[in-house]
Amino acid sequence: MDLGIKGRRAIVCASSKGLGRACAMQLANEGVHVTLTARGAEALKKTADEIRKAHPGVTVTEVAGDITTPQGRADVLKACPDPDILINNAGGPPPGDFRNWTRDDWIKAVDANMLTPIELIKATVDGMMARKFGRIVNITSAAVKSPIDILGLSNGARAGLTGFIAGISRKTVINNVTINGLLPGPFDTDRLRGTAKGEAEKRKIDVEQVLAERAKLNPAGRFGTPEEFGEACAFLCSAKAGFITGQNILLDGGAFPGTL
Ligand code: NAP
Repeated sequence: MDLGIKGRRAIVCASSKGLGRACAMQLANEGVHVTLTARGAEALKKTADEIRKAHPGVTVTEVAGDITTPQGRADVLKACPDPDILINNAGGPPPGDFRNWTRDDWIKAVDANMLTPIELIKATVDGMMARKFGRIVNITSAAVKSPIDILGLSNGARAGLTGFIAGISRKTVINNVTINGLLPGPFDTDRLRGTAKGEAEKRKIDVEQVLAERAKLNPAGRFGTPEEFGEACAFLCSAKAGFITGQNILLDGGAFPGTL
């Protein structure tokens, strides 16, 4: 299926690895010019080169920096001031016990996982509306629907973003600008492997055993692949998806047991 977005421009935040990288790769596969961000310049360049090699027809721009800072956002917007597509993403806050979190811990989480996407939307949405095309996808988490106690910083900050989007996504769609959340369950990325490693060390067992146990718990009997995530994201960014807005779409292999 031709998604109808060839030649569009996208900012894909936090995209040297994992889910962000997969979104950038799939958008490039559709002929979208992509601007990538991550803090680590080396991995970012490697990913940018891989996308260039796989899709020589598209322009790939990499901007190294921390997307959760004003400078990081200004640099990306300078490189791509008028994106048609914005994929908001950043690392997730650390787990822990809420009794130990300080005000600064909360501010950091809210800055990264709520205010950064809001700032980027603020900087780009009016241009999208004026051009009558825009697709904004916020990568959040399955924890928005089924919170995990130790991920309280993530639950709180992402729920705040989700509430904000629920309001504005009904105001932008009149000009063909949609805003949706993509909620990853367990996907096989460095982040997931990192948390499995921590558990393996605690339990003094092999990390592969932890991964196998976790995969078995999912109704699909496996983790999602970043490619599957990127493909869903590309569809939401497509010309075909203009009637989908304000939605929070779970990609979790059926792990959330609700009817709706
Ligand atoms: P990942 O494999 O660890 O990749 C994270 C990417 O984001 C890297 O490219 C990293 O590069 C970049 N990044 C992190 N912080 C950044 C910052 N402040 N500024 C710019 N780039 C930044 O993680 P992932 O699994 O793709 O996860 C992506 C998001 O989905 C996270 O918020 C995570 O909490 C959420 N999530 C993931 C899963 C899952 O199963 N994978 C499940 C639920 C939610 P640098 O480190 O070089 O900056």
